[in-house]
Amino acid sequence: MDPIQYIDQHQESLIKSYHDLHSLAEPSWQEERTSCYILKCLREAGISLKTFQSHYGIIAEIPGISKKVVALRADMDALVQEVDGVVKPNHSCGHDAHSTMVLYTALAIASSGIRPKHTLRFIFQPAEEKGEGALQMINDGALENVTYLFGVHVRPSTEVPYMKASPSLSMAQPKQ
Ligand SMILES: [Zn+2]
Repeated sequence: MDPIQYIDQHQESLIKSYHDLHSLAEPSWQEERTSCYILKCLREAGISLKTFQSHYGIIAEIPGISKKVVALRADMDALVQEVDGVVKPNHSCGHDAHSTMVLYTALAIASSGIRPKHTLRFIFQPAEEKGEGALQMINDGALENVTYLFGVHVRPSTEVPYMKASPSLSMAQPKQ
């Protein structure tokens, strides 16, 4: 099935996954149930996976014709903050949405049966809020053979239409 058609046909389950991940909200380095949820979906789609002993990060891959890798990355952790008078993990930064987007991209491409030109890698990163998870994933080989790396982050101040994304380097630039 065409990947776009897959997304259109799975809108309900995509939105359910977003709500499921939203309710699982876990703080940095404790993303156990979030990771389990994502792993289960990827496993059911027959996507090859790599997990780690010391954290809940995931690397999923759809092999391509070449060994070059194009990677898409999402973060999984939530912030701990007061919500209605209760201090708890809360997905106010949108990492539940990011994980959903990257998960369904992987599922859509896997279901299409497309053999991509380059290997596609889907990185689910722990502990973004602490600024530590990216380094951990790099140390664990997440960027091996990567020629292009795409990250995704919602940004309500620059809302874009449905099915559109806006390129931005602002979050990846070192401070001047
Ligand atoms: Zn964030």
